[in-house]
Amino acid sequence: MSSTVEVTGLTKSYTMGGEPLLVLRGIDLAMRPGEVVCVMGPSGSGKSTLLNIVGGLDRPTSGAVFVDGVSLDSMDDEQLAVYRRERVGFVFQSFNLIPTMTAQDNVELPLVFAGIDKDTRRHRAAAALDKVGLSQRLDHKPTELSGGEQQRVAIARAIVNSPAIVLADEPTGNLDTATGHEILLLMREMNAEGRTLLITTHDRAVAESVAHRIVHLLDGSVTEIEQGGNL
Ligand code: ADP
Ligand code: MG
Repeated sequence: MSSTVEVTGLTKSYTMGGEPLLVLRGIDLAMRPGEVVCVMGPSGSGKSTLLNIVGGLDRPTSGAVFVDGVSLDSMDDEQLAVYRRERVGFVFQSFNLIPTMTAQDNVELPLVFAGIDKDTRRHRAAAALDKVGLSQRLDHKPTELSGGEQQRVAIARAIVNSPAIVLADEPTGNLDTATGHEILLLMREMNAEGRTLLITTHDRAVAESVAHRIVHLLDGSVTEIEQGGNL
């Protein structure tokens, strides 16, 4: 269930008011299968942009992302959609759950898009929710769950397709320290199952507890790569 992710010479620029805005200025990063890399940096340094490009949600201006040796750039939009659906799990700071749907239905959603039949969906979503400790909350809607529980649902949704890569954009950013710690333990579990993890965070304690390596971004450039505490 592991994948290599290699980012080479990645740049991204936007045109704002006629002026080019260089958001990523040539990022190089090679992740081993099963590695956890945390990206740290101040707001606006390009963390989310990097994560979105690795996840195939956005395309770079130049440079490339190779996943298991295959360039995302070689994929058309449909192939990229399959990559996102089958190979990548996403976790966001604001959970991004569908408010009108129960926890069970939120977690089933990626399986609906994958064309999986109803019985298999219910079974697999319930198993994923059980894994994150929410087997008693299947019928709760997001507003009927705490922030930590909502993020657990989002994690169940991210792993229900058994992706080899999990991308988490400030997954503990909206949670208190204790709840954030529980989410990090789940991240470590996802990694123990072999998944390659790329996580952005503002929080040094988060990065140190979960990362094999910590990449520091400033103004779209890598300024330092250091060893994390996940040995
Ligand atoms: P971070 O996640 O580190 O806070 P982002 O990757 O979200 O940083 O953003 C980096 C920079 O790119 C910011 O200055 C932001 O304003 C700019 N940016 C992000 N997305 C867009 C966009 N769609 N159009 C124009 N500028 C953008
Ligand atoms: Mg961000």
